[in-house]
Amino acid sequence: VRARVMQVEESPSVTYEDIGGLEEQMNEVRETVEMPLERPEMFGEVGIDPPSGVLLYGPPGTGKTMLAKAVANQTDATFIKMAGSELVHKFIGEGAKLVRDLFEVARQHEPAVLFIDEIDAIAAKRTDSKTSGDAEVQRTMMQLLSEMDGFEDRGEIRIIAATNRFDMLDRAILRPGRFDRLIEVPKPNLEGREKIFRIHTRDMNVADDVDFDKLAKNAEDASGADIKAICTEAGMFAIRDDRTEIRMEDFENAKAKIDAEDEEEEISKT
Ligand code: ATP
Repeated sequence: VRARVMQVEESPSVTYEDIGGLEEQMNEVRETVEMPLERPEMFGEVGIDPPSGVLLYGPPGTGKTMLAKAVANQTDATFIKMAGSELVHKFIGEGAKLVRDLFEVARQHEPAVLFIDEIDAIAAKRTDSKTSGDAEVQRTMMQLLSEMDGFEDRGEIRIIAATNRFDMLDRAILRPGRFDRLIEVPKPNLEGREKIFRIHTRDMNVADDVDFDKLAKNAEDASGADIKAICTEAGMFAIRDDRTEIRMEDFENAKAKIDAEDEEEEISKT
């Protein structure tokens, strides 16, 4: 069961250089996650408990998972990922046990960064309905809280959780000693978008006519994941045209194609 729902990666390959924009967020994550992993004795000497977890929130595809992986890489920590939705929906009745397993695996792999994606699936505000599904979610969350509170020596395990739906979270998980640092990870601004275009074309054979400033300006509402998709699709346009060099027109065609696909998706939803 474990192997199927938990993703364990010894020191993932993502680095801070792979992340565009998000400088502030990176600094905050480094201070709260990296420092306690690399210099746990500092906190003891100063006489404060290191923060146990940080919560990253913001729209999908903005780099939350990347941030968590980059910290694990930087600190030579094992990256352990689990999605909140899988904790409660995949194996009904197993949520609390999976949480125990998750922390057990983390202890075996210290130092470890434990990444819980979609934390809202287990830590949503209590609703009035008393269905059995809700009780299961409650039990899973209580187990998570007790694991977080029960850290005697937090030196070697750090928890990073992520959500796209901050407003839905139960305030209990935001109490001191739990996720005491909340970091917003927004969509990139113009400068960030240009950086992300440059990052994702680093290994691409890009023609001289490609104007990165213009690419960023034309991708107004794009997330990092959207920008990556545009770059890959631009490469596909070059291949379809039997070229190995990617031109500005390929990026423009790629953007148009992805926009059209998104629109179709919107229509099919309604
Ligand atoms: P979700 O909420 O959907 O889990 P996320 O915020 O965790 O999304 P990531 O998984 O980190 O998003 O990003 C998905 C992909 O999009 C990354 O693997 C990367 O290729 C690209 N990407 C997203 N944000 C950035 C960024 N700031 N810089 C560079 N690439 C990015």
